[in-house]
Amino acid sequence: MIKTRKRGTLIVISAPSGAGKGTVISRLLEKENNLWLSVSATSRAPRTNDIEGVTYYFYSKEEFEDKIKEGYFLEYAEYAGNYYGTPKKFIEEKLNEGIDVILEIEIQGAMQIKKLIPEALFIFIMPPTLQELKRRLVGRNTDSKEKIIERFKIAYKEINEVSKYNYVVVNDEVDNAVSKIEAIIKAEKCRVDRIEEVLLSNEEEYIHELLVDMND
Ligand code: 5GP
Repeated sequence: MIKTRKRGTLIVISAPSGAGKGTVISRLLEKENNLWLSVSATSRAPRTNDIEGVTYYFYSKEEFEDKIKEGYFLEYAEYAGNYYGTPKKFIEEKLNEGIDVILEIEIQGAMQIKKLIPEALFIFIMPPTLQELKRRLVGRNTDSKEKIIERFKIAYKEINEVSKYNYVVVNDEVDNAVSKIEAIIKAEKCRVDRIEEVLLSNEEEYIHELLVDMND
């Protein structure tokens, strides 16, 4: 009776560094097969666990700036002294194929997307407490003390920006956070503004035909 838009949903997920969004998103991707995670580009140095083309595309600052000039990015931002950006290619293609696309990006980039694509879905993942956030940042053991302090200060500011998003998910327990995000995505598909056409005729004749057996 109704025809809804088949186009995929653009899902923007932000979280302060250390909120555990990486684990939440990996679990989500394992469970849902109609999801595609966009691989970002960055000028930051690779960490031990990073894999070129899988976690990020790594560029020098100069290479990144050349790409900005070329118009290669859908959005980009500077975060903790490095560039991060979403390559434009593939995103439109995936959405047209009906695949949902996840952008795992920080707030400045998310707000650029909000201007460009206001109908995108904006989800903020929150750490359960600031103590837990600190524990996760320190426990990661990959950054220097100065970097950890810098990231903690940025995270503290970011938490105040949560109201710019549509949904907030507290990551107290990974499975719990994942099922909340799945529910949000499902709900999004039911929004009335996805309806393209209501395949119903209001004509008297049609109603009469439908109700004919009731007139006996
Ligand atoms: P990390 O260095 O910990 O991998 O990422 C630092 C921050 O950059 C995270 O908040 C992450 O979400 C964000 N980020 C990763 N990719 C992008 C991107 O393409 N654009 C923007 N704006 N932020 C990104």
